Amino acid sequence: MPNMALEKVKMPEQPGDVRNKNFKEVTTGYDEKMAIEEATRCLNCKHKPCVGGCPVKVRIPEFIEKMAQGEFEEAYQIIKTTNSLPAVCGRVCPQETQCESKCVRGIKGESVGIGRLERFAADYHMAHVNDKLEKPECNGIKVAVIGSGPAGLTCAGDLAKLGYKVTVFEAFHVAGGVLMYGIPQFRLPKEIVQKEIESLKQLGVDIQTNMVAGRAFSIEELMNEQGYKAVFIGSGAGLPSFMKIPGENLNGVYSANEFLTRINLMKAYKFPDYDTPIKVGKSAAIVGGGNVAMDAARCAKRLGAENVYIIYRRSEKEMPARLEEVHHAKDEGIIFKMLTNPTQIIGEEGCVSGIECVDMELGEPDASGRRRPVAVKGSEHIIDVDTVVIAIGQSPNPLIKSTTKGLETKPWGGIEADEETGATSIKGVFAGGDAVTGAATVILAMGAGKTAAAAIDKYIKGE
Ligand code: FAD
Ligand code: SF4
Repeated sequence: MPNMALEKVKMPEQPGDVRNKNFKEVTTGYDEKMAIEEATRCLNCKHKPCVGGCPVKVRIPEFIEKMAQGEFEEAYQIIKTTNSLPAVCGRVCPQETQCESKCVRGIKGESVGIGRLERFAADYHMAHVNDKLEKPECNGIKVAVIGSGPAGLTCAGDLAKLGYKVTVFEAFHVAGGVLMYGIPQFRLPKEIVQKEIESLKQLGVDIQTNMVAGRAFSIEELMNEQGYKAVFIGSGAGLPSFMKIPGENLNGVYSANEFLTRINLMKAYKFPDYDTPIKVGKSAAIVGGGNVAMDAARCAKRLGAENVYIIYRRSEKEMPARLEEVHHAKDEGIIFKMLTNPTQIIGEEGCVSGIECVDMELGEPDASGRRRPVAVKGSEHIIDVDTVVIAIGQSPNPLIKSTTKGLETKPWGGIEADEETGATSIKGVFAGGDAVTGAATVILAMGAGKTAAAAIDKYIKGE
């Protein structure tokens, strides 16, 4: 008999007023009993609607059935057949708009906690199974991957399994892309990402860090002089957008990208052990309403700011951030200032002292279908802050485009790539992930890496 409880088994977590002072993981995960209890809520539906909602088609009812029987390693192995980073996806995928949004249990009550179960299976595997992956026989054919985010890592892993000699070139000193430098430790522990990267190395993938494509080498050189038969570009969307308002060059104004990189990759929160301090002061304003803004706000709180404001020009309903992250941020004491838009950043002696904003109201829907925010005349007001973090979006860095002859891009900078294969305008060069779509999600980037790996294999074989 399935467990007909209407709600998911609750996920244990650190209380908001405790966790907002540390960088340890917010949710601590199910134990075995909880995992089995949640798994028995699954009805093992014949038509598997949940699978249709998953971009990489994880065999959801099959793995959950194993979980319900307490066969956690078997469950993990089923997930692994289609998802190369389950511990990551179980933590950061927006399941509520993907697999869980299609779950029939969600019609009357809460959906099955598919993400939580996926996370449990992956964590169980990491804790109990010390698998040494066997290195596949190498066919000696060289393929280069630019960027080591989820798109690049997935593409590299799939190609290595097919026997290719894969080299990943990463601009930063650490591999992992946004998983390492963007998403904070308290949502995605870095040890987990590094374990996944270790398993790729066991497959024979060579990861070269501090290698910036377009500076250290060009794609043309890789293919014409260094013998690479194909190249995959998974360089992400790391170029921050700014608001273009007065005061953006004051001390104390950061792009979310810089702010989070300093904290995650350079461990600013461990200062003075690590030499990358960030002073947030007493109050910080984070401008934006996406996951990036939530992460920056929650980091600012943990760095000691008493007042942390999310400033967003639309209403909460339009905020693109995951609902779960908004709840977590509120629990941690972040103050939400909705329908508020910055007009200038105010400074004293070169440093931020406040942010001037206007109230907004929602007008007619714009091209995105969301109601357009319109400024309310005479509503200017100043919020006293010491730090401003701008989290209003990122686009692909133009470096690769500007150093690669014949690589076509869209007007906003995304690389033109075929949806079915990832093929670009240059023969043998493929692309995927945020570099093609603009800022999106981990699972979509992984899906693109997977698609491109299969297409590269076919291309090299001349099929
Ligand atoms: P990236 O992860 O950006 O990786 C690209 C890599 O390429 C980087 O390591 C970069 O250094 C490297 N690179 C760039 N240029 C070069 C070059 N010229 N030469 C060599 N290397 C280069 N998604 C979710 O699904 N859930 C979330 O909760 C979530 N939260 C997020 C929070 C933050 C703060 C951010 C920034 C993003 C978040 N995302 C989330 C989005 C998700 O992380 C991205 O969509 C995903 O990482 C894109 O993967 P990618 O491999 O295309 O690019
Ligand atoms: Fe289980 Fe929900 Fe998928 Fe049905 S839709 S198989 S209940 S997870």
